[in-house]
Amino acid sequence: MPLQIIVTTLRSSVTKFATHSLGKVIRTQKNTFCSVTLQSKMTSSLTAVKTYERLPKNVIPQLYKLELTPNLENFTFTGKEDVEVSIKESTNQVILNASQLEVQEALFKDPSGSTLKGNVTLDTKDEKVLIKFDESLKIGSGTLSIAFSGILNDQMKGFYRSKYTTPSGEERYAATTQFEAPDARRAFPCWDEPAFKAQFEVTLIAPKDRTVLSNTEPVQQVQHPDNANLQIVKFAPTPIMSSYLLAFIVGEYDFLETITKNKTRVRIYTPVGKKEQGQYALEIASKSLTFFEDYFNIPFPLSKLDHIAIPDFASGAMENWGLVTYREVRILTDPKNTSAINREQTAITIAHETAHQWFGNLVTMDWWTDLWLNEGFASFMEYLAVDSIHPEFDIWSQFASYAALPALKLDSLRDSHPIEVPVAHPDDIDSIFDLISYEKGASIIRMCHDWIGDEAFRKGLHNYLTKHAYKNAVTQDLWDALEEVSGKPVGKVMGYWTKQKGYPVIKVESKQDGNNRIIKLTQRKFTVDGTLNDEESKAQWMVPITIITSQDLNKVALSALMTEKSTEITLPNVTADTWVKLNLRLNGFYRVQYSAEMLKALAPAISTKQLAPIDRLQILDDQFALLMAGQVSSAQFLELLSSYANEDNYVTWVAIDNCISKLDLLLSYTDLSEKFAKFGINFYSKIYNELGFDIKDEKSHTENLLRSLVLLRLAKFKYAPVIEESIKRFKAHVAGTPIHPDIRSSVYRAVASSCDDETFNTFFKLYRDTDLHEEKVRLIQSTGSSGDLARIRQLLNFTFSPEVRSQDAWRVFICTVGTKLGREEAWKFFKDNADEFKRRYGSHMANAFVIEHLTNGFASEEKYKEVESFFLQNSFSGHEKVVLRSLETIKTHADWLKRETDSVRNFLESI
Ligand SMILES: [Zn+2]
Repeated sequence: MPLQIIVTTLRSSVTKFATHSLGKVIRTQKNTFCSVTLQSKMTSSLTAVKTYERLPKNVIPQLYKLELTPNLENFTFTGKEDVEVSIKESTNQVILNASQLEVQEALFKDPSGSTLKGNVTLDTKDEKVLIKFDESLKIGSGTLSIAFSGILNDQMKGFYRSKYTTPSGEERYAATTQFEAPDARRAFPCWDEPAFKAQFEVTLIAPKDRTVLSNTEPVQQVQHPDNANLQIVKFAPTPIMSSYLLAFIVGEYDFLETITKNKTRVRIYTPVGKKEQGQYALEIASKSLTFFEDYFNIPFPLSKLDHIAIPDFASGAMENWGLVTYREVRILTDPKNTSAINREQTAITIAHETAHQWFGNLVTMDWWTDLWLNEGFASFMEYLAVDSIHPEFDIWSQFASYAALPALKLDSLRDSHPIEVPVAHPDDIDSIFDLISYEKGASIIRMCHDWIGDEAFRKGLHNYLTKHAYKNAVTQDLWDALEEVSGKPVGKVMGYWTKQKGYPVIKVESKQDGNNRIIKLTQRKFTVDGTLNDEESKAQWMVPITIITSQDLNKVALSALMTEKSTEITLPNVTADTWVKLNLRLNGFYRVQYSAEMLKALAPAISTKQLAPIDRLQILDDQFALLMAGQVSSAQFLELLSSYANEDNYVTWVAIDNCISKLDLLLSYTDLSEKFAKFGINFYSKIYNELGFDIKDEKSHTENLLRSLVLLRLAKFKYAPVIEESIKRFKAHVAGTPIHPDIRSSVYRAVASSCDDETFNTFFKLYRDTDLHEEKVRLIQSTGSSGDLARIRQLLNFTFSPEVRSQDAWRVFICTVGTKLGREEAWKFFKDNADEFKRRYGSHMANAFVIEHLTNGFASEEKYKEVESFFLQNSFSGHEKVVLRSLETIKTHADWLKRETDSVRNFLESI
């Protein structure tokens, strides 16, 4: 599954922050409002150990022959399965997983033909089914036959229903699946843990006029003998794989197809009548498949790879082997209405899911603890593929804003978690589909790739994937493969990054010694509040270091492995006027704290854009983190910011915008809001005057992304020329002259923030009129920019109305938290509707994003206590850590306001 989908949606809909702090104890300010007793009560209450036992390995499934009959009228299904099993130890009991199923019968047949009837008990709490037999099953083989039934639920997990509208306007339902994680157990009793790999032979009985799909191709398709309206479709056996990768779908679709050079058939399934919206996806899907076959040097093992748009879909996409499922906005593109950023996200998502066909599907993590082996790798590999297909996207620079910065932000919090995270209870599995598994995972893989080099990396991956094909692996297996090829101590070094949470900040000091530069490096853990406890003081990493100098920008002056807490490096032949920079292109997952002189020397390289955009971004982001932690004053930071006055690169602007939006958020709690808006308008006007509203070059991908970013921020600052022009263009848009999709979101938001009632209601009308998912989301999320209480309430009440699909409702909700007023009202709504959030999304990451984005904007002691008290009384199982992280963030905000408001006031009043 791809995480960045959610992140990116938020990027354009919600203020995205860069909260970082430096792990250095210079502040002794007493914590004035965080009650120690309450905090520990909160921690223990929210992180109480949930006991759970994994399935015994005495009985192992080999082949499931699974037959399912979904009923698309009453949303139920019946099923039967014959599972060929291996009995490893004699036992009179078989335990497997089942949830929300009724089991009618369970029989065991041994090879001699004798049959035992099982006594079935369902364990609802632990989602298991226990089948007891009067006699023990002997070591050997046998067939377990189970008859069962269940519901086609509306929760977007397991075997579920998804509503669609036919071209004639009739509402119908498809049956589809989402089994990660762990929800195959909602469709059929199974060993629903990734290490129980088996083959699956699926048969579906469905209305004869529907398209029926599964992981493999059909081998038999016949009319049902007893019902002329039904067809029986039997699919070829799957490869040996984990249960969470199985998929089957019954619905109505059009498709387009192509055959790759290795003769794999690639299809894009679209809603009926919208075939052309799959054209771009087809190009990316086939190119990605070929790219990864070449890169891994391992052919795709199935004869076909389908990608299909599902109208109701909880995450962004799912990598089911041979049948990848997507939410519509991540696969369908409409040339007239799809924005550059959505096209980019479509490419990234398809590349991500295609990478999973090897990383995750061919070789699977042994248990969820190693989820990052799937997600971190797919999140890294997606950039390799997109870079090769679309070099103009400058996607590796964007890696910083999509992956590295969000991961650095989260991982600076005490309630982060290590990449290799112990997971026990099923409720907790969803919660690790987070930035740590995906984006920190991808970031440290990038660091490793950079350190050992592409050739060794590629060869190591080939060996790893070949050795563990159709099996499971743990993190160490990967390190072993990379170590063997590279000859570097990969396991030892990378263990520092996967087994402990957090990361270091490296303090750099330099002195000139004749023609040599002596660089002193000191590492320490980076924590959100700038303090270190005893354990944190001892934390240490092995850090691959790179250094560049102004003497040769295209060459790394020095690469080294930092193995101690402190070290000295000599750079020979470096003149006194040369600047020195660490961490080329943000390849290493760490922050850098330069001495004042070193930073001063770097400033001209920023303003003249001598440094690469990603290096410019990194310096600013690091300094902002230092500001939030109290290591750098506001005056120092704002002086550095002035070096970016001539910035024109999109990626660097993302970092600038992160800082500005965070300051804007914090200062909204002071009387400085208007003064800061004035400062902001001034800062953004130069680039606005260069870019304007009109697209100058359709091909200039990043310039078009930048235009959207600038307009969005200026609208937030209520910059009159942007608001007025937006209203003018919106009126023309409604009258039939469409706004270019690349700026449409920004224009909509500008209008929604400052329009009259009639115009505001036009958004809802347009929402109802369009059937393009991307446009629906864009329209409705824009209305969250309103600063009017009645309109915010109108939108919040719309969130859970039947007009918003459940997959979108939480995103609509989140778009209201971008203003102080909206945040307060959304918090009330959330508290009043907590049960509905739980019912709809449970432990899914949607609720994690809701809690995080709703509460992360608060900045006072009062709100800290309110949030703490609410979640103590209203447990959101699986999201306990998210709540703790939010509390940390609120406290950091409140501390910052106390510490820095006067200093910012002085600055704003002096300009
Ligand atoms: Zn994924």
